[in-house]
Amino acid sequence: MTNNHFVKYEDLLSIEGFDEKTDKEEFVLLPLEDEYVIGKYQERRNMLEFGHQIAVRRTVYEKLISVAKELKKVNNNYKIIVVYGFRDMKKQEKYFNEILEEVKDQFNDTMEMYEYIHEKIAVPLVSGHPTGGAVDAAIYDESIEQILDFGSEILDYSTLKCYYENDDISEIAKNNRGLLRKRMMSVGFAPYDGEWWHFSYGDKEWAFYYDKEKALYNQVDASIIFNK
Ligand SMILES: [Zn+2]
Repeated sequence: MTNNHFVKYEDLLSIEGFDEKTDKEEFVLLPLEDEYVIGKYQERRNMLEFGHQIAVRRTVYEKLISVAKELKKVNNNYKIIVVYGFRDMKKQEKYFNEILEEVKDQFNDTMEMYEYIHEKIAVPLVSGHPTGGAVDAAIYDESIEQILDFGSEILDYSTLKCYYENDDISEIAKNNRGLLRKRMMSVGFAPYDGEWWHFSYGDKEWAFYYDKEKALYNQVDASIIFNK
């Protein structure tokens, strides 16, 4: 039996806004090559924002470096690979509205419909990636130039193996998931049971997970951060 818990759209509505002070925090681009943290978009999802570089909030980057330093005590070849970070709020709205158009005739109840869509793509108002606080990440082993065995490919939503707890994955994969989660949580990231690779800091999911009144970061448009 597994024990995954999915945060619902309704849960996230209980978080009141965000802290204007912390929301002023700048964004940084993750390096493509580095000893500790690398950012590499996966071809699977074509959501490029800044060429091939991934943007996150500065504190998120600093926390990822701390995680990588801890992982090196386990194995000096380990580092953190991030395959997705900031997503433009306009894109979040576009993807959300596309699904909304497809399914709206099937629902009478708006809340029910939003919950249904939220499982596929977060409702923009509560979404994590457009805050720059959420990352899709894994442990990368430099000696074999591969992501460790996590029991499923990162960003692969096609099987239930994307759920954190899954009985059909190996003990090695379970241990790797546990190691990643433990280290990410030790620096303050909130995990998400629906995707073993998704973690966030400062967004509404994080606020709900750690019982905070407000998020630290609001969602933003790419044009605002980088004056594009
Ligand atoms: Zn994610």
